[in-house]
Amino acid sequence: MRIPIMAGNWKLNKTKQEAEALAGDIAAGARDVKDVEIVLCPVYTALDSVGRTISGTALKLGAQDVYWQESGAFTGEVSSTMLKDAGCVFVIVGHSERRQFFGESNETVNQKVKAVLQEGLTPIMCVGETLPEREAGRVEAVVSDHVKGGLAGLTAEEIGRVVIAYEPVWAIGTGKTATPEQAQEVHELIRGLLRELAGAEVAERVRIQYGGSVKPDNVKSLMSQKDIDGALVGGASLKADAFLSLVKFNEK
Ligand code: PEP
Repeated sequence: MRIPIMAGNWKLNKTKQEAEALAGDIAAGARDVKDVEIVLCPVYTALDSVGRTISGTALKLGAQDVYWQESGAFTGEVSSTMLKDAGCVFVIVGHSERRQFFGESNETVNQKVKAVLQEGLTPIMCVGETLPEREAGRVEAVVSDHVKGGLAGLTAEEIGRVVIAYEPVWAIGTGKTATPEQAQEVHELIRGLLRELAGAEVAERVRIQYGGSVKPDNVKSLMSQKDIDGALVGGASLKADAFLSLVKFNEK
């Protein structure tokens, strides 16, 4: 009942021309893909060209970050109104690299999630523990804190419009993937938190992606878990063949 969602987070990669070429190859290769939502998240400067390339296809455009104010004296920032204007449907919020390098906190994630929802866009809200946190047995505490902090003050209806990405920080860009069982355990925890916050019906509807070194050879086993509804993909989304093989996980 939950449509799988595969999102490519291209991070700080690709010029406009390179992004356009990659988007074109993915769009062509995904023409026959049914029942999987595909999202491409290029850098801000390539949003327009990627948006044009995928227009008329089923692929959707996403941004990698946002600022919560709509306009004003906030040099260097981009608002959700502007992202919508650029053709975005999704916005990644609270990626661990933003938390780690740019001072993102649960409070700023919360403000961003609210701003994105207010514009009618879908936030992909990232949560996940670091390796020291996992080793200290704090997975549940950290993930609960991220989920509750990021969704604070939202109505059940608003929570129902969020996509959550569970991304254990130790698995991002490291080649180390959480085992399907490790990932499922945390996804189940997140769904339980959603049940507490928004009720059973909403919790069943919200899609929870896994992220962290998802590759063609591990996607099927991850996607076979009951509470894993898609993937947020970094490295493997930068090559059309690899990303298409993730998108076509069902055909493996
Ligand atoms: C990410 O950055 O969201 C991510 C999951 O990266 P990678 O797939 O490269 O681990």
